[in-house]
Amino acid sequence: MYNKSLRQLSDSLQKKELSSVELTQYFLARIKRLDTSLNSVITLNESAALVAAEQADKQLQNGLGGLLTGIPLLHKDIFCTEGLRTSSGSKMLDNFIAPYTATTVQQLQQSGAVMLGKTNMDEFAMGSSNETSFYGGVKNPWDLQRVPGGSSGGSAAAVAARLAPLASGTDTGGSIRQPAAFCGITGIKPTYGRVSRYGMIAFASSLDQAGAMAKSSEDAAIMLQAMSGFDPKDSTSVDRPVDDLLQNIGRSLKGVRVGLPKEFFTEGLDSDVCEKVTEAIDVLKSAGAIIKEISLPNINLSVPAYYVVAPAECSANLSRFDGVRYGYRCDEPKDLEDLYKRSRGEGFGDEVKRRIMMGAYVLSAGYYDAYYKKAQQVRRLIQQDFVKAFEEVDIIASATAPSVAFKAGEKTDDPVSMYLSDIFTIGVNLAGLPGMSVPCGFVDQMPVGLQLIGNYFDESRLLNVGHQYQQMTNWHDMIPTGFGQE
Ligand code: GLN
Repeated sequence: MYNKSLRQLSDSLQKKELSSVELTQYFLARIKRLDTSLNSVITLNESAALVAAEQADKQLQNGLGGLLTGIPLLHKDIFCTEGLRTSSGSKMLDNFIAPYTATTVQQLQQSGAVMLGKTNMDEFAMGSSNETSFYGGVKNPWDLQRVPGGSSGGSAAAVAARLAPLASGTDTGGSIRQPAAFCGITGIKPTYGRVSRYGMIAFASSLDQAGAMAKSSEDAAIMLQAMSGFDPKDSTSVDRPVDDLLQNIGRSLKGVRVGLPKEFFTEGLDSDVCEKVTEAIDVLKSAGAIIKEISLPNINLSVPAYYVVAPAECSANLSRFDGVRYGYRCDEPKDLEDLYKRSRGEGFGDEVKRRIMMGAYVLSAGYYDAYYKKAQQVRRLIQQDFVKAFEEVDIIASATAPSVAFKAGEKTDDPVSMYLSDIFTIGVNLAGLPGMSVPCGFVDQMPVGLQLIGNYFDESRLLNVGHQYQQMTNWHDMIPTGFGQE
């Protein structure tokens, strides 16, 4: 049952071969039995999930409901959920019960999906390995010695181990795509503004975007459809109709122009990973896609620009955690200053502090022009490179990450090498474009991800290409050993 597609599960529910309560119990039992080795789920929502499943069953009894009615899923612990802890992977919010629910969570609830619990993540979504979580690292189900990627590593590991058919994620610089690649699942980050950020704890507001993580492109399309749309509560949400993401998923790849940025196929990329990605591109070609080399001349500046812009925004966003209003408060503060200092000093982990310090520095009066303004100018150049590239091609393809998942602890002492694991994904966020990762083979028995980048609001084409690729390959169906029993 764990490896069924969303359509198959939904079909069984509609035909009453299976109830949502049974399906929910089944996945809850899998989490309890199998997650002890992974640490991917940090909060279970057991009783409320069963109540929601009963409601879904009632809807199904009445012949109502859509593809997501009664389907269990997990949410990254960055989305506020009323009545259920929302920690953002931080000691700062270990005791935080949100008074309201994030729009995306609500949209999925309204579609009838059943929230099983919340997934582990890098603290405040800062990281590429899930090792910065207050709740401990997440293990990669393909090799427990390795990281699942980050920051949506809990969601990626859980879907890869089939602890849930779907999980939400967020992507500021690659946090949906890179863990999806490391764990061998499909993940899509839509265009900036396509999905509401209301109730999603902010890291870097001009880059953060929520998206879907699933086994296949089709499943991800179904989930993303439910999450997309205008939200008056989010001023950066775009008021434009949502495409039907399933309508064109079966379209042929004949004539689709695929651009390969030459800057993404250089020394930085592991040669075995490159081979798998090249094979995947050959598959697209055999289906009629036209492959073209393109250039993104400024893309090599994306990591440095990102590590100015993202920390700057995070230093502003995280100033709200002051020990006064909510979240962690230190014991017996001497005065207000001591309250601020110790609450923040004790509540935040090292990586978060590093980012806040970098951000405060680049925004400071003397350095603003040299760093922050310059980074924003570079960001515009990168965005223009993409705009130009999309005059020639329909989608852009590359590796999602320069290597397969690395060993836990391997990069924790070297932040710059950690930051470089997002070299292929970060530019997409700087430009606000949609991007996805689909599994495309294995190197050292670890999954490799193919990144597909689309033009603004062209999610349906991305999902179409991902789906067509998955019709011709079966990488997305593979399950890590140890997780393949009922
Ligand atoms: N790994 C990147 C960072 O640490 C991206 C994180 C993300 O997308 N949330 O900032």
